[in-house]
Amino acid sequence: MSFETLGLSVELLRAIGEQGYNQPTPIQHKVIPIILEGKDVMGGAQTGTGKTAGFTLPLLQRLFVTPIKNSRRPIRALILTPTRELAAQVADSVKTYGRHLPLQSTVIFGGVKINPQIEKLRRGVDILVATPGRLLDHANQKTVDLSKIEILVLDEADRMLDMGFIHDIRKVLALLPKNNTRQNLLFSATFSNEIKQLADRLLNHPELIEVERCKTTAEQIEQVVHPVDKRRKRELLSHMIGSLNWRQVLVFTRTKHGANRLAQQLQKDGLSATAIHGNKSQGARTRALSEFKSGKVRVLVATDIAARGLDIDQLPHVVNYELPNVPEDYVHRIGRTGRAGNEGEAVSLVCVDEHKLLRDIEQLLKQKIPNVIIEGYEPDPSIQPEPIKQWRNGKDHAQRRKHTESRSRNRSSTNRPSGTRQTSKSDQTESPKPVHKHVRRKPSNTQTKSQRQHRRSNRVQEQAALFKGGSQDK
Ligand code: AMP
Repeated sequence: MSFETLGLSVELLRAIGEQGYNQPTPIQHKVIPIILEGKDVMGGAQTGTGKTAGFTLPLLQRLFVTPIKNSRRPIRALILTPTRELAAQVADSVKTYGRHLPLQSTVIFGGVKINPQIEKLRRGVDILVATPGRLLDHANQKTVDLSKIEILVLDEADRMLDMGFIHDIRKVLALLPKNNTRQNLLFSATFSNEIKQLADRLLNHPELIEVERCKTTAEQIEQVVHPVDKRRKRELLSHMIGSLNWRQVLVFTRTKHGANRLAQQLQKDGLSATAIHGNKSQGARTRALSEFKSGKVRVLVATDIAARGLDIDQLPHVVNYELPNVPEDYVHRIGRTGRAGNEGEAVSLVCVDEHKLLRDIEQLLKQKIPNVIIEGYEPDPSIQPEPIKQWRNGKDHAQRRKHTESRSRNRSSTNRPSGTRQTSKSDQTESPKPVHKHVRRKPSNTQTKSQRQHRRSNRVQEQAALFKGGSQDK
């Protein structure tokens, strides 16, 4: 199956060719013809499956083949995303795939100045990518007109609900033309009852498209656990990066403070490292990501806010410096590597406090992660486990979620006078935990299970051997 058979225009095929894509991914194969027919879609797909191109390509084509004769360029397509990072990435995709078409697009999200966004909107755009909070700020200031929307996309709808955006979404929907006059596309990694309710309200006789869940644990990601004492984790990490010559590694910590501290410590070890999390300004977050992508910075230390939405081509290594409190976050974290068929490696440094978290992850994955003790870093058996703090001020996950939702509700119910300059903070929220119920492992297309196991055990042995050498230096 090639892109040529899907009915896409030559301009889009050219852009696809320039991206180096040879064939559509399963979701693209299924969804592109249906969107081109103008039908509503409920798509079950995670990031990493190629879903962005899956909805962006036919969206561009539909706008292109039905140009409107209106010199004022009304906004014709709206793509809503839960996070700023995802909004920026989707907007990049829209520009990339639409580069040979005469369509204009822009992106709006919080945490940056609103005036340049107002100016861009004023000049006229066909496609708008937005996070809900900032979009409502514009709507309140009457700097955006959504009354001519022909296509609405809700991307990562489950994530938006998890982040407490349901009230904002309802408000946005009220600003659009009636739902039977527009095409509606909803993408979600999970189909909870809340998602189904939202879909019932939003979609007209949708086609249900599903691709294999959680490709993120696909077998092209090699996972390994290195047991190590908490106080020696940083030393081991620096050693691994240096001795294995990792050029680009994404490291996850549980807290923002922990991310800052680790990035500083790694810098002291002579490694170029920076941190990305919800307390950083949007400018700092964008800069950190682009320096990491370009190779200027070798180690990006992130909290879970970066676990979704971040799309780094061919990211080879993800390290769980600390295991996440919620097992599903492990799946999202490691899913930043092994994307679109590339190989990747996910390493977890696990101390005695985290054994229960590891068990929960393995239970979710229905798989035991290979365990390799690095010589010279053997855990001290006399160290007793200590409880792990769940969240700042000891709040647990349920409280954290409640907190996020009530914050969003309070903000959405605030009657802001139009014309004010108040901007939303809700899309700055540190990501709360998504609830994913199904994790299935999908065999890779190119290798048999025994080949993969063989490769993995070779790799683990190679790594252990390298460390053996490395640890003699100590
Ligand atoms: P997404 O799931 O939309 O976040 O896409 C994940 C990654 O797959 C991105 O880096 C895309 O550039 C890449 N991608 C999308 N479509 C294809 C394709 N047909 N072939 C290869 N890579 C693709």
